[in-house]
Amino acid sequence: MKQYKASTIVHKIAVGTIFFYDKQESSVKCKKIEDTEAEIMRFERAKEKAKSQLGTLYEKAKREVGETQAEIFAVHQIMLDDMDYCDAIYEIIRANKRNAEYAVAVTGDNFSKIFAEMEDEYLKARAIDVKDISERVIRILLGEANDQVELSEPVILLANELTPSETIQMDHSSLLGFVTRVGSSNSHTAILARSMNVPALFGLDIEREWDGKKAIINGYEGTLTIDPDEKTLLQAQKMLETEQKREQLLETLKGKKTETKTGKRINLYANIGKVSDTGSALINDAEGIGLFRSEFLYLGTDSFPTENDQFLSYKEVAETMGGKKVIIRTLDIGADKKVDYFHLDQEENPALGYRAIRICLEQKEIFKTQIRAILRASAYGNISIMFPMIISVQEVREAKAIVQECKEELREQGIEYKEIEVGIMIETPAAVMISDELAKECDFFSIGTNDLTQYTLAIDRQNPRLESIYDAHHPAIIRMIQMTIENGHKGGAWVGICGELGADLSLIKTFIEMGLDELSVSPSAILPIREIIRMLDE
Ligand code: PEP
Ligand code: MG
Repeated sequence: MKQYKASTIVHKIAVGTIFFYDKQESSVKCKKIEDTEAEIMRFERAKEKAKSQLGTLYEKAKREVGETQAEIFAVHQIMLDDMDYCDAIYEIIRANKRNAEYAVAVTGDNFSKIFAEMEDEYLKARAIDVKDISERVIRILLGEANDQVELSEPVILLANELTPSETIQMDHSSLLGFVTRVGSSNSHTAILARSMNVPALFGLDIEREWDGKKAIINGYEGTLTIDPDEKTLLQAQKMLETEQKREQLLETLKGKKTETKTGKRINLYANIGKVSDTGSALINDAEGIGLFRSEFLYLGTDSFPTENDQFLSYKEVAETMGGKKVIIRTLDIGADKKVDYFHLDQEENPALGYRAIRICLEQKEIFKTQIRAILRASAYGNISIMFPMIISVQEVREAKAIVQECKEELREQGIEYKEIEVGIMIETPAAVMISDELAKECDFFSIGTNDLTQYTLAIDRQNPRLESIYDAHHPAIIRMIQMTIENGHKGGAWVGICGELGADLSLIKTFIEMGLDELSVSPSAILPIREIIRMLDE
């Protein structure tokens, strides 16, 4: 028996036989050509065919792993049209009079090297995407079959590296898990592995001789065991059984109420950042959206999203959730979320700086555009609005006055909207301390424990050196949550938590005892939390 350490992507166990996937790279010959324009046309035709294949993969991924993950293939389609990439290929064909497959191979290699050498981990991980698209075009040009990994029986797959297309095209029912030599937790292959929920490791010097051997992937510890002894194998099989039972159990919780044994109901909602995240909220049976971080609509573009763009996004979420509550948090830009077109100054202390509601109350037109979009979308579902980073009653009144102004404008224009709940985030110590007064101004509070911890403990939540003392369990935070719930209820506001602490399974009982009404967490945390709540005697 031999055990190897690797980096882990998915925390799960796999026990099975190894299949060593020896990828045959297309062999590309460098040829001199005369008719360069005809060669460019050959490339263009191959590119169009590749884009159409990627469209088919997009549909497959959308069906099997959800829309968000499927977007990888839409991005690949866009990459194929990238001007720099295409220009580099045209240049080799025209100036060097080389054949299209050679031009694509050289360009793919160059671009992939440039990405691989980048500092930013996310960009670094794009190297394999460039290789993936280039290899697809080359195969089409050479008339070769697709890059399909054929799995005839359940296996643990070992490969030097796996592209997103190879990963999605595999027969998932036969893939117990995979280990690659090259990879990163930011790669699209890793993202797909997470959605497919298969154990996966990377960064291991795999060996061809392991092909056909028995192995265990332990995604919790990040190990690959080759030829496990009897005891290790038994242990792994037990873990696997427990894991499978747990997954089945969570599955049975779908459709069940989130209530304690004595019938106390908790609203269990999901946090989302993108319209497409609504899919995973629904798959995990979220009872609503408790935090839609709307700033991501602004982060994804290079100019302000228009009222109509925003309206369509909010409307889509509201309609997809089919009448379930959707709480849209207004723009929380600034601090770690910077957007060039806002032209924000460099600041000494951005987390304490010009951000969120402070920007919105000052740059009223930006705020009004968003509020009008939210109000218009409210006609299509069950939308609420929530303001971030509140520190005073005055801010809430000003924000509400702007909502009122927008309503009047819409009414005058004959545009439909609904009366919606208005809430605030409690994420500053100031808001906690005056929560009795704030409660009179709003319908609900949502406690943002991420920032509340940062501001209460005076610890920058972004600073990795301080991670060990960034303690959301600090008694100051727990007492603040208690105080917020009590004051909220006294003032007639319901109270929830949408910060990460809300998904801390060890605290669910405490929160319920405190009288919390709602929890909004990442979609994958919903069913484990429902399980705990349903076992409580409160
Ligand atoms: C929070 O601060 O807890 C919160 C939910 O908001 P964000 O993490 O987006 O700052
Ligand atoms: Mg926050």
